[in-house]
Amino acid sequence: MKSLVLFSNDLRLNDNDAINASAINGITSTFVFVYDEKLYAETHGSANLWWLEKSLTSLQSRLAEKGIKLHILDGELVSTVTKIVEKYSFEALYLNRNKHPSFSRAEDHIENNLKKLNVSFNTFNKATLADPSTILNKSNEPYKVYTPFYKHCKSLYFQKDVLTFPTEPIKTYDLDEPQMNILSIFSKKNNGWSKKLDQYWKPGELEAVKKLESFFKGYLSEYKDIRNFPGTEGTSKISPHLRFGEITSNQIINYFNFHENHMLSKHEEHYIKELYWREFSYYILHHFPYVIDKPFNKKYEKFEWKQNYEENLDLWKKGKTGIRIVDAAMRELWETGWMHNRTRMIAASFLTKNLLIPWQEGEKWFRDTLVDADIANNVMGWQWVSGCGTDAAPYFRIFNPILQAEKFDPDNNYSKKWLDDDFDLYPADGSSDLLSDNKFIKPIVDLKISRNEALERFSRIK
Ligand SMILES: Cc1cc2nc3c(=O)[nH]c(=O)nc-3n(C[C@H](O)[C@H](O)[C@H](O)COP(=O)(O)OP(=O)(O)OC[C@H]3O[C@@H](n4cnc5c(N)ncnc54)[C@H](O)[C@@H]3O)c2cc1C
Repeated sequence: MKSLVLFSNDLRLNDNDAINASAINGITSTFVFVYDEKLYAETHGSANLWWLEKSLTSLQSRLAEKGIKLHILDGELVSTVTKIVEKYSFEALYLNRNKHPSFSRAEDHIENNLKKLNVSFNTFNKATLADPSTILNKSNEPYKVYTPFYKHCKSLYFQKDVLTFPTEPIKTYDLDEPQMNILSIFSKKNNGWSKKLDQYWKPGELEAVKKLESFFKGYLSEYKDIRNFPGTEGTSKISPHLRFGEITSNQIINYFNFHENHMLSKHEEHYIKELYWREFSYYILHHFPYVIDKPFNKKYEKFEWKQNYEENLDLWKKGKTGIRIVDAAMRELWETGWMHNRTRMIAASFLTKNLLIPWQEGEKWFRDTLVDADIANNVMGWQWVSGCGTDAAPYFRIFNPILQAEKFDPDNNYSKKWLDDDFDLYPADGSSDLLSDNKFIKPIVDLKISRNEALERFSRIK
């Protein structure tokens, strides 16, 4: 059988079902990635595109080492794949499902087209551990709260074998098609930011595994205690690698050796719980697809956000709100394309509950600037913080960023790192008392007044 393997957000050689199935069933395999500029612009922010370019480069060279060409083609996804299948008379297509709704729709169209051509269409799921459609509560309905969802999953712990790249040489069939210049995905257009991100990240499967192994040998043993402190290296920073499928959650969960009577420590279990927050995000997106841009809890559609907020939104993006921990967080994001989970919550809470700016604006900025920007996790994170999502923080729980900083950045390590020389320009308590003193940066909003205004607006829609 002449088979085509189509990549999207599964940029790895190991634990890749599509590759292994094609190698087993195919007489020849052809490896293809289609860069559909419109689809990628719609579904990937700038930082995502930077990562994609590097990750594809890495995948291409890993395949080349094995004598396999990765064809990177430029064109609309559905028509390009259909055309290639027809032109070269492929008999089977293999792909790992991409769970972004826009990609899912495109994959469904490809499936329909191939059916008409009598070409076999084979899909696999390693984007998540769980298959959302099979996990339902006792009333046969989707879970809407994380804890029972996790308990259900825990009783099953979706651990499958981890596949390794086939050891037998794969016979390939090369296409006679123009190869796209990978650098036109990002570098040619956005040189400046690229150089910045280069300092902090090394996309690709090998780095993902290296990072995971070093986390398992190091900080995992303290994870539950230090994961909330942004001034430490307490989390795995595996998120962008997971986002692009350079590593699977199945590979990660297999590091825990459940089958060997290994008792999980509280830190290990907590790490698994966080992985299942990602599962839960995809689960909710599957069952309630409207959450992509609307509140899970529909009554919050009526929430009255501030009008004419552009100036404050811009100051928030630039890390110039006058609130130390918020500005440090926003500058970390701009500098590195990543932000610690605790400060994601603080910055998001400040935007939605102090500045009263719609969560969709923050989600959009994170989508453009996070290297790990992920449709399900980002939307869920924003809805959780702003109080309109599943399991959401209740509306009356409004983070005080000053108290959050005192608790989670007690020595100001984080703020000092990202604010650098500007650190001393902030009144430590964020209060307005010192505002007459021009040497301090003025907070753009009074925390107490804005908090009360948010509570009042929330109470109106209860
Ligand atoms: C407003 C907001 C926006 C967010 N946007 C994104 C996003 O676009 N992409 C993204 O991957 N995560 C997002 N998160 C979740 C979380 O902040 C990141 O997954 C985490 O910071 C990634 O760092 P890590 O890999 O070091 O995490 P670790 O603590 O090492 O956790 C390991 C993995 O578990 C998963 N995970 C951890 N925490 C969460 C969480 N709260 N929700 C869902 N999954 C989690 C991630 O896949 C993470 O890589 C967002 C959170 C908030 C509050």
